[in-house]
Amino acid sequence: KPRLFTGIQPTGSLTLGHYCGVIHHIISLQNDYEVIIMLADLHALTLPNPHLNYQEKCYEMAALLYACGLREENCKIFCQSQVPEHLILSHLLSPFVTVGSLSHMIQYKEKKRGEETGNLALLSYPVLMAADIFLYDADLVIVGQDQRQHLELTNTIARKFNNFFGQNLLKIPQFSIPDRGAKIMDLQNPTRKMSKSEPDHLSLLDAPEIVKKKVVRAITDSENKIRYQPKKKPGISNLLTIYSLLADREIKEVERNLTDLNYHQFKLKLAELINDKLTIIQKNYGFWRVRVEELLRKNSNHLRLQAEKKIALLKEELAISSLPLT
Ligand code: ATP
Ligand code: MG
Repeated sequence: KPRLFTGIQPTGSLTLGHYCGVIHHIISLQNDYEVIIMLADLHALTLPNPHLNYQEKCYEMAALLYACGLREENCKIFCQSQVPEHLILSHLLSPFVTVGSLSHMIQYKEKKRGEETGNLALLSYPVLMAADIFLYDADLVIVGQDQRQHLELTNTIARKFNNFFGQNLLKIPQFSIPDRGAKIMDLQNPTRKMSKSEPDHLSLLDAPEIVKKKVVRAITDSENKIRYQPKKKPGISNLLTIYSLLADREIKEVERNLTDLNYHQFKLKLAELINDKLTIIQKNYGFWRVRVEELLRKNSNHLRLQAEKKIALLKEELAISSLPLT
């Protein structure tokens, strides 16, 4: 089976944005691919947070991902820090990336938050991300809209690297950004992406009452007409996108069926739909949470073998030492 790869940072709880974007998309593809999901704890450390227990977050995320419906036998979720080969490959790729190109990345500029320059790990984030992808010879990579620029850079790195060594050492995968749900917006600020590290996100672990409150309070325009117009009406369009994904209906159809409702009625209906999904996920969560530590260990061991092989092959081609240490 071809390999599908994606990554998520354990910097908070999974959000409705992750569910509607990457998770939903991967679930629909899981029969045709071997799925690898990396919990990117090394990436998470680019903006260190002493109050976060990254290990605990990894367990929570992995259990939640399985609880969403990813199947254990076909989906290997693992922690990035358990496979140190990611760092080796990142280093091998580094000479093929300029500092200038990294400093132009939107995420770098956004996350450095006004400091004159950001820290080195934040700058080199896309290089480690490229390494994550190439380490497993991925065939398909799925990410949200905000990662598009990093994927383009990943492509450039591989082409330079392969050209230099005169052979296709790095496999350039197909990149896929879901056509719907690739950028679920913040409910309180619908011109900004919903993010787990921002305070207003809707978490997959939120209780029904909280979900209802957050959805009812979502910022919308004052026209009170349910229309999908992302530029003019970002708030209501975002809610329509979420509704259409969770109900598994086209946006046009949803729009048609809901025309008679006012915003408040629509929001109540949406909150109910979200809660129907979350209730099932939250019910499954407990089952997975007690199994997940063992499962992550098993998955890391399996992937580490793959990663070691890839690095051994590259070292041979790059004519650097691959002598074992003992
Ligand atoms: P952080 O605020 O820590 O960056 P995040 O919510 O952006 O957290 P990431 O771990 O950075 O989450 O992203 C994991 C994956 O989910 C990426 O592929 C990203 O593009 C995708 N993603 C993140 N937020 C959304 C969203 N609101 N809608 C759709 N996809 C998203
Ligand atoms: Mg992010």
